[in-house]
Amino acid sequence: MKIPEQFLSELKSAGLLRSLRNVECLPGGMARMEDGREVVNLASNDYLGLAHHPALVEAFARGARDGGAGAMASRLVTGTRRVHSGLEEALAELKGTEAAVSFSSGYATSVGVIASIADGNDTVVMDKLSHASLIDGARLSGARLATFLHNDMDSLRRKLEHARRVNPAGGILVVTESVFSMDGDRAPLRELVRLKDEFGALLLVDEAHGFGVLGEHGAGLAEELGVSSGVDFQMGTLSKAAGLSGGYVACSRAWADVMINSARSLIYSTAPPPALAAAALAAVRIISGEEGKALRRHVSALAEALSAALGTPGRPVSSIFPVVIGENEAALSAAQRLLEQGFLAPAIRYPTVPRGTARLRITVTAAHQPEQIEALGKRLADLPRSAY
Ligand code: PMP
Repeated sequence: MKIPEQFLSELKSAGLLRSLRNVECLPGGMARMEDGREVVNLASNDYLGLAHHPALVEAFARGARDGGAGAMASRLVTGTRRVHSGLEEALAELKGTEAAVSFSSGYATSVGVIASIADGNDTVVMDKLSHASLIDGARLSGARLATFLHNDMDSLRRKLEHARRVNPAGGILVVTESVFSMDGDRAPLRELVRLKDEFGALLLVDEAHGFGVLGEHGAGLAEELGVSSGVDFQMGTLSKAAGLSGGYVACSRAWADVMINSARSLIYSTAPPPALAAAALAAVRIISGEEGKALRRHVSALAEALSAALGTPGRPVSSIFPVVIGENEAALSAAQRLLEQGFLAPAIRYPTVPRGTARLRITVTAAHQPEQIEALGKRLADLPRSAY
């Protein structure tokens, strides 16, 4: 068992002690700190600026007025309303799949879905930089967990060959993110689909950071690359570009029914409030329509401008910019310096990122304006950075 004083003092001396602080996230890509100061918010995942969108706020308020503030039961008991099913139909339509199942968070989706797909006879082969929720899902499934080097298809092939050799009868689930949460780089989805087909494996792609941002209709990287039909499980969250909370998996009808009958994070948890589902439906409609396209154009122009300011023009555009500093204390003081200059970009440290790669994780969103990003570019140019 942990000894609290010892545990906390060890974290403190390693520069890894965290605490909660109150931050008011305002429209216009701004945030108000506890001391009342307003700063540019570069730490939100609200990529399209939808969290304050009047259509979402109104759908949320109306949803609560019509359906009550909570769902009152789990999905399988009396917690499923028409609006939950409507959200799932809209997600399936956007993703081009037979079905979708929504969950109360992206985390709950990862753990519920992976543990529903795989069991002790199988192997989960996962990109090394995959999100903690995906790792937890694989652990919970009881499957053998193997990791391949980040975005390295030779390494993936070796792991697949090994999995087939040691367990010829077992299934294999390949897992990756589409846009990586801490580096903003993209998975080679075409090659991943080719390899999983070659080995008769299944493929799960977590589009947490691609959904809403990539693809003509905002479905994500799989849509942008035209490989959606090769991805067996298109997973994602509603907590980032959709500006809300919740998660989903889009897949075949049969697999969706497997989730409904075995995903413990769905079965043993109260359904998301109907108001949340109503707001999520409004978000999906915006994302897949003309307004979504305009927001994507705006955010990608800002991302390109920041790329150029950071000396990496032409980098495949995502909203996530890692400014890797290196050591924890140096990253903390860089974040403090930026905050004093009016920009909120907290330091991200181990275990969220590998040791020695502590960084500022900067996100640009459609709520930002070019002048804010231009001013940021100038400040970042002065920061000491590592060659990560
Ligand atoms: N997957 C990835 C790749 C993520 O970055 C996150 C959120 N950090 C999640 C899943 C979990 O999503 P949520 O915040 O909706 O629980």
